Amino acid sequence: MFRTHNCGELRLSDAGKQVTLSGWVQIGRGFGGLTFVDLRDRYGITQIVFDGDDNAALTERAKKLGREWVIQVKGTVRERTNKNPNRATGDIEIIADELTVLNSSKVPPFTIEDDSDGGDDLRMQYRYLDLRRGPLQQNIIFRSKLALAVRAYLGEQQFVEVETPFLIKSTPEGARDFVVPSRLNEGQFYALPQSPQTFKQLLMVAGYDRYFQIVKCFRDEDLRADRQPEFTQIDCEMAFVTQEEVLNTFEGLTRHVFQELKGVELGTFPRMLYDEAIRRYGSDKPDLRFGMELVELNEVAQNKGFGVFDSAELVVGICVPGKADLTRKQLDALTNWVKRPQIGAKGLVYVKCNEDGTFKSSVDKFFDQEALAAWAAKCAAKPGDLLLVLSGEDEKTRGQLGRLRLHVAEENDMIPAGSFKPLWVVDFPLLEWDEDSERFHAMHHPFTSPKREEVERMLTGDHETMKSLKADAYDLVINGAEIGGGSVRIYDRELQEKNFQLLGFTPEEAEEQFGFLMGAFEYGAPPHAGIAFGFDRLCAVMNGQSSIRDFIAFPKNNQGRDVMIDAPASIDEAQCKELNLKITV
Ligand code: ASP
Repeated sequence: MFRTHNCGELRLSDAGKQVTLSGWVQIGRGFGGLTFVDLRDRYGITQIVFDGDDNAALTERAKKLGREWVIQVKGTVRERTNKNPNRATGDIEIIADELTVLNSSKVPPFTIEDDSDGGDDLRMQYRYLDLRRGPLQQNIIFRSKLALAVRAYLGEQQFVEVETPFLIKSTPEGARDFVVPSRLNEGQFYALPQSPQTFKQLLMVAGYDRYFQIVKCFRDEDLRADRQPEFTQIDCEMAFVTQEEVLNTFEGLTRHVFQELKGVELGTFPRMLYDEAIRRYGSDKPDLRFGMELVELNEVAQNKGFGVFDSAELVVGICVPGKADLTRKQLDALTNWVKRPQIGAKGLVYVKCNEDGTFKSSVDKFFDQEALAAWAAKCAAKPGDLLLVLSGEDEKTRGQLGRLRLHVAEENDMIPAGSFKPLWVVDFPLLEWDEDSERFHAMHHPFTSPKREEVERMLTGDHETMKSLKADAYDLVINGAEIGGGSVRIYDRELQEKNFQLLGFTPEEAEEQFGFLMGAFEYGAPPHAGIAFGFDRLCAVMNGQSSIRDFIAFPKNNQGRDVMIDAPASIDEAQCKELNLKITV
C-alpha cells in the first residue's frame, strides 16, 4: 500500500497513529540532529521529521532528498511543539521510521510553491510542474467541481447531455474557423465548431426538448489576453419556452452554482435593456460593482463657444468620486490613455470640483464658474470629485467613456473585492450595420429571432427599419464580464431565409450553407431558445480572477501555441501528400 492517508488530512486527533504517506518533497531542511521534510500532494502538506539521534542512517538518507523527489514515508503521528497555524496539518508531524524513494527528480526549473519564481514562458513549457502548484490545482479542481455541479443541476431539470460532432462545416458565429483537411474527400475540409449552434437546434427539431453539453468550441481569432483558440461552453437549448423561461432557468443554474461552490447568494438578477446599458454605462456588459454612470451634458456644455463641444453629437461625462486631487501628470496620463488608438478619443476634458466650492477645468477659457457648477450639478458631483468629459458621435463616445470608466475604477481601486454583480442585458439589436463592408452582420448569430412584434417590420421594412430591429437576445453579465449569451431562435423557413437575405446571402448561398437547417424547419420544428455560458470565464469570475488561462489545464500562449508540446508544427511530406496539401512556405 502506497499510503494510508493523504498529505492534507492528519490532525491532532490522529496522534499516535502509524501512518504511511506518499508525495513530493516540497523542501527539506536540517535543524541540529533533526531533518525536516515538507511532503506535498494535492491535498496538502505534512511535515515529516527524521531524528538523527534515533535513526542516524535513515536521517542521512533523508538529508539527500531533493526538491520534487517522490517518496514514501512510514512513521507515527505526533503533536508538534511549534505548531503552524497556517497549515491544516500544522498541529502535527510524522516522526519517520521508514523512507522509500519512489522516484528522484531533476531540480525543477522553478520552485513549486504557491508564489513561484518561474516566468510565464517557463511555466507554460513545464505546465505539468506548474500544475503541481497549489493555486493552479485549486483552480483545476474548482473547474471540475463546477462541471459536476452544472451536470447535476441540469440533469435534475431533465436536461439531456448530447455530444455533437467536432468535424463539421462552418458555423457562422462571426469568427474564423479552424479547418481540418479531409483525406478521404480530396480537396475538402472540415471545420471545427465555433459552437454546436446548428446541432442543438436540430436536437430541438428532433424532440429532445432540453439539451446541454459542456463542450469545446474553436475560434481562430486574434488572441487577446483573455481569449483562447479552444475554450469550453456550457451549451444549452430548450424547446417550447419563452425568453422569460430561459432566463429563469439559467438564473437558477447560476445562483445554484454560486451557492454550492462559493456559498454566495446572488439574489434575483436585475435586467437592463441593451439600449439602457449603452446609455448609462457605454457598454453592453456593464460592471455594476461601482457607480460612475455616464451623464449627458449637451444641455449645459453646448453653445458656450467651445467649438469641439458645439459640433459634437454628444457631450458626456462621469463623476469620479474624491479624485479632484489628481495631479496634472495623472490627468495627462488619462488623456493619453483615451487618445490611444484602441480607445480613439480626440481629447479629454476635466473639471476638478474643489473642496472650497470652486471649479478648475481644462476648458476654463470657455466656461466660467457658473457654467461648470451646472455641469457638476448635472453629475451630482460633490466637492472633491472629478468630472471627466468626452464628446463626439453618440455611440462611439459612450463606448470610449465606458472604457475610461472601467480604467479609472481599476486604477483607483474602486471595485470592491469579493462582490458579485450579475445582470441580464436583454433586447439586443438583431442586426449591426458595418460601414466598412456595407453589410449587416447578425449581432448575435443568424439564427436569432427578432422580437415577435418586430417580425412584420422585418419582413416589410426598409434599410433604416432594419437597423432598429430588436431581437429576443440576451447576455448574462457578471462583474462586467460576459458570462453567457443566447437568444430565442427563428424556427420558420421563411423568416430564416429573410434573415439570410438581410445578411447579404444569395438564396443559393443560404441553401448551400444552411439548407440542412432550413430543411429541418419544414419538418415540425418547435419554438426554441437557448444560451451558452463561457465555462472558463465563469470559473475565473467566480474566483475573482481575470485570466481564463489559469483555469485551463493546458492552455495556449498569446501566439496560440502550446509551447509544452510545441504545437502547431509542420507535418511531414508523406502526410501532406496523403492529404493532398501543397505547402509552399
Ligand atoms: N451559440 C451561441 C454562442 O456561442 C450561444 C447561443 O446562442 O446559444 O455564443
